[in-house]
Amino acid sequence: PAAHPDQPAETIRLRPALENLPAYIAGKPAADDGIHRYKVSSNESHLPPIPSVRDAAVAAMESSNRYPDASAQQLRAALGQKHGVDPAQIALSTGSVAVSGDLVRAVVGEGDEVVFAWRSFEAYPILVGSHGGTPVPVPLTAAGDHDLEAMAAAVTERTRLVLLCTPNNPTGPSLSTEQVEDFLARVPEDVVVAIDEAYREFHDPATVLGTAGIFRRHGNVVLLRTFSKLQGLAGLRIGYAVAHPRLARALGQVTVPFGAGAPAQAAALASLAPEAAEELERRAERIRSERSRVMAGLREQGWELPASQGNFVYFPLGERSGEFAEFADARGLVLRAYGTDGVRATIAEEEANDRLLAIAGEWIAG
Ligand code: PMP
Repeated sequence: PAAHPDQPAETIRLRPALENLPAYIAGKPAADDGIHRYKVSSNESHLPPIPSVRDAAVAAMESSNRYPDASAQQLRAALGQKHGVDPAQIALSTGSVAVSGDLVRAVVGEGDEVVFAWRSFEAYPILVGSHGGTPVPVPLTAAGDHDLEAMAAAVTERTRLVLLCTPNNPTGPSLSTEQVEDFLARVPEDVVVAIDEAYREFHDPATVLGTAGIFRRHGNVVLLRTFSKLQGLAGLRIGYAVAHPRLARALGQVTVPFGAGAPAQAAALASLAPEAAEELERRAERIRSERSRVMAGLREQGWELPASQGNFVYFPLGERSGEFAEFADARGLVLRAYGTDGVRATIAEEEANDRLLAIAGEWIAG
């Protein structure tokens, strides 16, 4: 490795906002030590993209010497149709985490406050803090739910943005239409409320958040969606927002130019085609039924876990979280530990889920 340059690091002037920022800790890759492990630490799809989607991405590679369509016309038209909105209400970027960052850049100034539940998606405090905003984390309830009462009370004159995550990563519970409507009624209309639905497709469809018409009633609402989870495109990086046209336009202004690459756009578009969407819905149904099976098995073992509507389950193990993750790792399962809060496991193929049940059973029998 090259030596560090002679210039002392202190002469590099960074923004003070970066000093105390936590690092984003990605799900661990499985160690390369000859032990076969299932990697269930990043809520990815354990299946590769479906063939028609992969083929579309590969075909788009043919013209990857050219920049992608910056306005992503076809994809935004298809997404507009899916959501029953004008394509001008769709804003794309390199994953929904990037869209969330765009949202912060578009509405949050130095010292403005952003309210979100905690623990939730770990990128939130980083995105807010790195842009000079003030993160206002509001503790979840003991059951791992958003405390919407406390979140509404945390909104001040400095609040510019509220981030709701449903189903909540990493704990799993979701918000009902009624809960969200009640919350929106309590928050001033000049505060943007983003609803991060990265795991929406895994939700029980009978009770999933109703979003049709939400923009007619609430111009301050933004939906955040991704192709990283059910669609299996985490490596391609594409996500989007559905928002009021004025806000969607602002997102387009602040986003990195050409953020959504051509293969990513093509793959996303192909996954919206009716046959692909049906195939993906079958995949979602399998995850839901495996989640039920795993949850039932864990509860039978004596675990008390938050309800989950995501493609993951959460073990609120407190101080023993790291220990449990290591215990699982030694037995062929890579989990995600969150400090001294808990451990999250992605629902994946049957064998991985079986292994989770076996490990959790061994631990609790302890
Ligand atoms: N929101 C939540 C709640 C997530 O868990 C994730 C992924 N871990 C994302 C957003 C980001 O997804 P993407 O890959 O689209 O950036």
